Amino acid sequence: MFDHIAFPTPYQTLALSNSVQLTIKRLDLIHPQISGNKFFKLKYNLLAAQQQGLSQVLTFGGAFSNHIAATAYAAQRFGFQSIGIIRGEELATQDLNPTLQTAQDFGMQLHFVSRAEYRLRHDVEYLQQLQQQYSQAFIIPEGGTNELALQGTQEILNEDDRKNYDVICCAVGTGGTIAGLIESSSNQQQIVGFSALKGNFLQHDIQQWTTKTNWTLTDAYCCGGYAKTTDELLQFMQQFEQQYAIPLEQVYTAKMMMGLFDLIQQNHFPANTRILAIHTGGLQGRLKT
Ligand SMILES: *Cc1c(COP(=O)(O)O)cnc(C)c1O
Repeated sequence: MFDHIAFPTPYQTLALSNSVQLTIKRLDLIHPQISGNKFFKLKYNLLAAQQQGLSQVLTFGGAFSNHIAATAYAAQRFGFQSIGIIRGEELATQDLNPTLQTAQDFGMQLHFVSRAEYRLRHDVEYLQQLQQQYSQAFIIPEGGTNELALQGTQEILNEDDRKNYDVICCAVGTGGTIAGLIESSSNQQQIVGFSALKGNFLQHDIQQWTTKTNWTLTDAYCCGGYAKTTDELLQFMQQFEQQYAIPLEQVYTAKMMMGLFDLIQQNHFPANTRILAIHTGGLQGRLKT
């Protein structure tokens, strides 16, 4: 159902003045709407929904959620109705931002809920209640992260990626992508996650999905928190795009790349380390600088 709509994802090796090798895997190009890691996270979820004969998908997200935009498109593409439970009831009376507008244009019904209600998004009783209300809905958690998503994100790395690189880098939101990368990596590889959010609760979330220990996570480049930006970040993003002609976005991939460049600059990686950075997409939410 999914694989036949995937475009090839090229690799680009950047010319760096340092002694490490940095290659970018352009998952952002896998599909114009089901972008990057969201393609892999949705794949087995929508297959399961189809196998269970359900006609709707229901999921959760904030106003800048690439998952919401990707789910809206994928649902429409494969014949499901979609419902988005969106954090922040004040948004109901405002103009939709580009992400939410995109979701609505792809037919998603947006339900704006208070922060208190949104906090219940993992609560068993709340989910049962939603399931009763939407009996035809396949419920996908926030950011799309569940067991089925991990099955998908374990397909991001292929055999060559396991052989040809020492370090794999990715941006981290809910942790479903890095967990799949960790699970599918070789034990000689190190997975380095750059958190888009402040705080170390994510460390614990990731440990729920993997028992392997060949990974690290830093929030040192989160620029104050989720969807927050700094002048330094926006400048880095602009310079990077000019120099390498690879677009980034400010919520995830620019933070990862700024962090990675900083670590390389600090000689964090030994000489000749072969680094693969995963471009997880998300360009629909890119701030125009
Ligand atoms: C959603 C998203 C992430 C985070 O993925 P998780 O699996 O939630 O950690 C990273 N990068 C981009 C571009 C995203 O849209």
